[in-house]
Amino acid sequence: MRQVIDLQAEKKATARFVKGYPLIEKDTVRNESKLKEEGSIIQLIDSEGKFLGKGYYGIQNKGIGWILTQNQNEQIDEPFFNRKISEAVAKRSSFFKDEETTAFRLFNGEGDGVGGLIIDYYEGFCVIQWYSEGIYSFRKEILSALESVVHPSGVYEKKRFEHGGKYVEDRDHVRGEEAPSPLLVKENGRTYAVHLDDGAMVGIFLDQRDVRQAIYMHYAQPDSKVLNTFSYTGAFSVPAALAGAHTTSVDLAKRSRPKTIEQFEVNGIDSETQDIVVMDVFDYFKYARRKELSFDMVILDPPSFARSKKRTFSTSKDYPALLKDAALITNGDGYIIASTNNASFGMDKFKKFIAEGMKSANFNYKICETFSLPDDFTVNRNFREGNYLKVVVLQKLS
Ligand code: SAH
Repeated sequence: MRQVIDLQAEKKATARFVKGYPLIEKDTVRNESKLKEEGSIIQLIDSEGKFLGKGYYGIQNKGIGWILTQNQNEQIDEPFFNRKISEAVAKRSSFFKDEETTAFRLFNGEGDGVGGLIIDYYEGFCVIQWYSEGIYSFRKEILSALESVVHPSGVYEKKRFEHGGKYVEDRDHVRGEEAPSPLLVKENGRTYAVHLDDGAMVGIFLDQRDVRQAIYMHYAQPDSKVLNTFSYTGAFSVPAALAGAHTTSVDLAKRSRPKTIEQFEVNGIDSETQDIVVMDVFDYFKYARRKELSFDMVILDPPSFARSKKRTFSTSKDYPALLKDAALITNGDGYIIASTNNASFGMDKFKKFIAEGMKSANFNYKICETFSLPDDFTVNRNFREGNYLKVVVLQKLS
């Protein structure tokens, strides 16, 4: 039997919990030391003992657990997960029908009512991400519910929590058929190669789907020059090249070269016609200025925080300088696609970073379009900070 522990919410946090705020943070509850085993059920009560919500104990960098229901009589069992997954599937019925897009987020954590649990769908296969030991303790119930609702060809899992000081690296495949590697998925008719059994990242970030489509439809022109920085597998380079642009993909990691070649080849693009550069982006900017290279579009999608041999980069500190570097090698009337997944600031602040960077380089610009998470990345209306993605397309005015 799971332990059930009553925890009292701090007075200052009670109103938020009443409204349906799902995250339990250490400093918003009293007697947090009563929690012993992750996966225990937390019953949150106010100072008068009135029921506020029921959830689980699971330690993530974000907090110590998630509220799953505000109904005291609802049990957290297999039928519960079955209901949640069914609702998530129903919301995505248009994705299931779409033959042009066969990879999407099936279950988006607290956005679909269960914080700490992410499930992505790739051409019939499911990849579960467990964000804490606590949610992992419901593995059996969640796997059964997923299989009975979705009938996936096979299931993979990624543990995103620490265990005994290190991340547990079990085999990723858990149930059903094994997917071919690469597994070819489609996104708006374009092909992506994904590897489900190859570490934390499978080869594509599904949250940028709408941005990739906009690059293909509007921003990449035939024979234009596109620079894709922090390019990883070159997922942004693919729509640009298919629109007829010449792409240069820059990433520090050696694996980015074979992975980018693979994405080009599965789309029938001769990778020899495109440039793939394994280099620190900041060195590449210097090199480009020295060689007087310039581009019609520069894509910036840095990790929130990165440490290389030479420097550390943090989006919340260094984005203006990054934008300036990009603008210096962008042609007049060219586009810059500035993206960040840093949840610690919102769109307004991101636009300020952009303004600061453009001002320091003395360039005028206009914002053409902005993006946040696509529809399948459901955001909980009581947890807006879950909408971490911010993308701004701007045009440098000549
Ligand atoms: N834009 C990519 C995702 C970027 S993931 C996409 O659309 O799929 C972040 C990438 O930045 C990683 O591949 C990492 O190797 C790379 N990276 C981190 N610091 C870097 C640096 N200083 N120079 C170049 N690449 C860097």
